[in-house]
Amino acid sequence: MEREPGLKWLFFDLNSYFASVEQQERPELRGKPIAVVPMQTNSTCAIAASYEAKAYGVKTGTMIYEAKKMCPGLICIPARHDVYVDYHNRIIQEVIKHTPINKIWSIDELSSRLPPNKRTLERSAEVSKNIKEGIWQNIGKHISCSIGVAPNSLLAKIASNMQKPNGLTILRQEDLPGPLLALRLTDLTGIGKNMEKRLNRAGISSIEQLWNTSPKQARKIWGGVQGERFWYWLHGYDFDPPETNNVMIGHSRILDPKLRHENEARTMARRLLVKATYRLRRKEYYAGALNLSVRTCAGYRWANEARFPAAHDPFTFLQHLDDLWGGMLTDFIPGPPLRFKKVSVILHHLRKDGQITHDILDSGYKEKIVDLEKREALASALDKLQNKYQKETVWLGTTPKTIGGYVGTKISFSRVPEKEEFWG
Ligand SMILES: [Mg+2]
Repeated sequence: MEREPGLKWLFFDLNSYFASVEQQERPELRGKPIAVVPMQTNSTCAIAASYEAKAYGVKTGTMIYEAKKMCPGLICIPARHDVYVDYHNRIIQEVIKHTPINKIWSIDELSSRLPPNKRTLERSAEVSKNIKEGIWQNIGKHISCSIGVAPNSLLAKIASNMQKPNGLTILRQEDLPGPLLALRLTDLTGIGKNMEKRLNRAGISSIEQLWNTSPKQARKIWGGVQGERFWYWLHGYDFDPPETNNVMIGHSRILDPKLRHENEARTMARRLLVKATYRLRRKEYYAGALNLSVRTCAGYRWANEARFPAAHDPFTFLQHLDDLWGGMLTDFIPGPPLRFKKVSVILHHLRKDGQITHDILDSGYKEKIVDLEKREALASALDKLQNKYQKETVWLGTTPKTIGGYVGTKISFSRVPEKEEFWG
């Protein structure tokens, strides 16, 4: 664990990203309150809001019918995820000119471990200034970011949130906890509403009180070693969290109102799965478990998981999906006809190529291997078509069109979609 005085980490966060890209692309939207929405209906929520809309209290997650009441002139813009990914890629290219990138956290956030000669107040401020100016010059004047610099990446992220838009906050070890004391507990990344309640129950309701706990106490409050880690990060220590093996690949989709019947929902689940399989194969992973979860319009949630010898062809997964789907239907019957609001499929228990051979051999049956080889050959042929044409060439099942256009590729805040995922 290191606790040197150096400003080692820079955290970069684009401001109102989707909305800013729209304003950059469409001059008529500049200076106007806009909300980016997944689809044109009042019953959806904003996935981004411009600063002009934020001034009225509209933010990510605000329902559109409420947002329109708060801000009568609000302009709703359907999301164009492919454009945001394109900007993302260009922004990455720009940032890399100024500092190495260690981790891309989401479509609008990344962190950089500053090179040793850039870890002073002056040099890190210079890097930050160059990034901002590079983006204005080479990407667009309407794209701005907030940057945080600190001894570790958690503090750098917290710092990036302290001044918006277009901020730069540098937290030096020797100034801690000073600038943090003005924040609320929930302003700290990693402390949500529930954690706040737990802290309150332990008699902690301010950053100052949190600062004055001990690592041991923090461990107790968090109920595990994460508490201790949080304490050390907050106090400026720098270390990497241990690797966890929870990689997974999945997609989920809120269904358009006209695609909520059982048949369409099932088709959507199949498409999402084929898409996830394609990503799995590109990353050369095998998956040993499939999780299906659904939410019905009546508000019920259902989820179950299938486990199997690790595989990576769509046919195997689709078979398991069908089994899960059937099980789900029987769990709901008898009852009124089902209408689905959301479906999600996740492949997990991922492993790399080389780790797999034994499972196939251990399963013992020659036919099984021959069958797997056939599936594999067919799946490879599908991959080739997909790679060649970069869009839906062959689908296993039918292809419903949706208002949003892109099926499956929704931008999550923890994952940046790859260009190949924008088919359709
Ligand atoms: Mg942001």
